[in-house]
Amino acid sequence: MRDIDILKQKLGKRAGVNEVLSKYCFLRIGGPADIYFEARTTKEFIKVILLARSHNIPVTILGEGSNVLISDAGIRGLVLTNKANEIEILDKATKKERNSAVTPRWESDSKVGTFKYEFKDLDYDESNYPRVKVKMESGVILPQVIDFLLKKKVTGLQWYAGIPGTIGGAIFNNIHGGTHFISEVLEYVRVLDKRGKSKKLSINDLGIDYDKSRFQESGEIILDAVFLLYTGDVNKAMYVKKEWAKRKSLQPRNSPGCAFQNLTQKQKTKLGFPTTSVGFIIEHKLNLSGFRVGDAAISKKHHNFVVNEGKATAADYLTVVKEIYYKAKEKLGVTLVPEIFFLGFNNKEVGEFRSQESLSLRKTRKLEIKKAYKNSKKLFSKP
Ligand SMILES: Cc1cc2nc3c(=O)[nH]c(=O)nc-3n(C[C@H](O)[C@H](O)[C@H](O)COP(=O)(O)OP(=O)(O)OC[C@H]3O[C@@H](n4cnc5c(N)ncnc54)[C@H](O)[C@@H]3O)c2cc1C
Repeated sequence: MRDIDILKQKLGKRAGVNEVLSKYCFLRIGGPADIYFEARTTKEFIKVILLARSHNIPVTILGEGSNVLISDAGIRGLVLTNKANEIEILDKATKKERNSAVTPRWESDSKVGTFKYEFKDLDYDESNYPRVKVKMESGVILPQVIDFLLKKKVTGLQWYAGIPGTIGGAIFNNIHGGTHFISEVLEYVRVLDKRGKSKKLSINDLGIDYDKSRFQESGEIILDAVFLLYTGDVNKAMYVKKEWAKRKSLQPRNSPGCAFQNLTQKQKTKLGFPTTSVGFIIEHKLNLSGFRVGDAAISKKHHNFVVNEGKATAADYLTVVKEIYYKAKEKLGVTLVPEIFFLGFNNKEVGEFRSQESLSLRKTRKLEIKKAYKNSKKLFSKP
């Protein structure tokens, strides 16, 4: 019997195949997995990963599938989701922990092009409030935990209102909400490494950047994390949450979020554009409004979103993304970096997005963000 069949047998009736397509991803695009499994506890999550590895079966972790494009051919091996979603409010942070916390901020772009999604007016500094430690398993659903914690008078996640996904996915991609990154309130992350050992990584070891963490290369799997949040102003946080979610509700849901990262400041200056917004570029500089392949279309609500307007395939979606990518290269000499993760594709299909050029653009962005953090700290300096 093949290893994949042995694994299927060991996982029993709960091992499915088609759920990747039917349950996950707002896009509703993708093919089946060889095996699909939902772990109910973190212990089971670890057990299943180790079992698959012992049979040399590749493991792909899926959160809520809100940031991925899954190939029409599906995903070979095991696709595993952690449904463990416990939230534990721990003690108040000690003085040492408070001081070790990273609380940088970065400035948002100018209003042009991104006006609908402007956030600056809602921003405020929470760093004077007492901090509280909260442990979350990687399967915790982000919109749910924001509400749960606000009810318990814990603040600090309000900036991420309206962002779908799990805590695992949020850390993997270091999500950004308005002028904030989730890493600002992370203390440590517990992972399962490639050798099957569980270990704790502190914030300084996470390789945090814009849309980036070390997990994108390390192959480590996020089990749970401890956040350093605030017992802050609940009414204010509630207002930010509602208002920000309202502004973000303009973004289409039948997509896996923004197709591309915004330009670096260096690219913006070189091109003489008023904004780094890729939505602005797609609409006004590439004139691609309304472009579609089959049912995959550039959204008119937000041009950096590619949506499924019916029965789009992953191939259709990828063709639209590539049209934007190559038009930007050809017309503007700009290399765009995709924001979504491509699962189940081979290098031939998506190799251009893994080029050396994309990596060096990431480096530029990292430097720019570090600089912006430094400057914006002045904006929030304590009275
Ligand atoms: C309408 C809309 C709006 C959005 N707005 C924003 C926004 O404002 N800011 C922003 O940053 N993002 C945004 N996103 C993108 C997306 O919601 C986030 O990146 C989200 O955190 C992804 O979480 P997920 O659980 O769905 O991850 P998935 O899409 O399931 O997975 C994403 C990647 O994370 C990996 N992964 C997931 N869990 C784990 C784990 N436990 N261990 C290791 N790897 C793991 C997966 O393998 C995959 O490579 C938006 C998306 C949509 C559809």
